[in-house]
Amino acid sequence: MIEFIGVEKKYSAATAVAQLDLTIDDNQFICVIGTSGSGKTTLLRMINRMIAPSTGTIKINGQDTAKLNEDELRRKIGYVIQNIGLFPHMSIRDNIMVVPGLLKWSAQQKQGIAERLIEKVELPLDYLERKPKNLSGGQQQRIGVIRALAANQDIILMDEPFGALDPITREALQEMIKRLQQEMQKTVIFVTHDIEEALKLADKIIIMDHGEVIQYDTVETIIKQPANAFVEELLGKRKKQTSLGNEMQVRDLMCSEVEAVSLSKSIHAAMEQMTRKRVDTLLVVDDENHLKGFIDIKDLNGSVPKETNLYEIMRTDTASVNQNENVADVVDPLLNMELKYLPVVDDENYLVGILTRSSLVSLIYAQLK
Ligand code: ADP
Ligand code: MG
Repeated sequence: MIEFIGVEKKYSAATAVAQLDLTIDDNQFICVIGTSGSGKTTLLRMINRMIAPSTGTIKINGQDTAKLNEDELRRKIGYVIQNIGLFPHMSIRDNIMVVPGLLKWSAQQKQGIAERLIEKVELPLDYLERKPKNLSGGQQQRIGVIRALAANQDIILMDEPFGALDPITREALQEMIKRLQQEMQKTVIFVTHDIEEALKLADKIIIMDHGEVIQYDTVETIIKQPANAFVEELLGKRKKQTSLGNEMQVRDLMCSEVEAVSLSKSIHAAMEQMTRKRVDTLLVVDDENHLKGFIDIKDLNGSVPKETNLYEIMRTDTASVNQNENVADVVDPLLNMELKYLPVVDDENYLVGILTRSSLVSLIYAQLK
């Protein structure tokens, strides 16, 4: 449990966080949202005393954090800031184990941690010995998230960790962090300026404006009973997508003619297929038509020998949607991402079609009429 008791942070010119009394229960996913400069980062950093409060007390499980030293705080609280990438010269394993290293854990204490974590995010064990540059961007992000869990602190602070990511990668990571938080029973305090993200992840949301906490409630209560006009306006920023394709499922809109290639084929064969079909990307499937990845023409030119197998170079962080999802839920990612289509899979991850951006056009047009 984290308690803020009469906490305030003042700088000579301004009050960054005004008189604050609130309690965060264990194993909660808390999002902190507000406009820029509203005090989110200050609130977060006071928890691990990167910023000392001007007045008041912060207690963790009843213990005043002012009385803990840096190492003790680090043992209790993990911290992830915006866009901090992996250290490029260190292996994935060493990247994951940075904080246990700082805490001078013994070899025995460190035993097996990197393996357990990388399995949790479904990456192969041998990636532990690779350098970050040998992983795709999405895979690196996943490692960045599990690194925050390596020292097994009960509390994880995250300051806009996914702020700069494309919507598809961000969505995948949101699902991942939420799953890990629940599986590993963590208290996560997560700063965001994206109301969608907050509503999706949080058990409770702290809404801030000009250093004041305007509302601290469950997602349900905030939606049903916004504390004031500021909160209403914040909620109003949610994309108006409820009426769009609300009852329609992805399967109703997808195109089931897909250009896919088997992962046992060579680059040469893939290029031939691309040329013939006049496409610049191909989805990669196994012999049973499970979606495994994709390749882009951009990855094929240059120095890769043309006999190379596709599974060696394909990208595996492919976003996909289930055919049973509502179209309304995939409109945003689809319109915001760089890819022109999303692969559609069934419950067993069999590739069953693609959803193209252009297929949305008629749907949106129908809404406008
Ligand atoms: P947010 O994370 O919500 O954007 P911050 O917590 O970073 O906001 O900042 C809250 C307020 O405190 C802002 O008005 C900011 O200008 C002010 N502030 C933050 N850090 C300092 C500092 N070191 N000195 C003076 N003012 C600061
Ligand atoms: Mg901030």
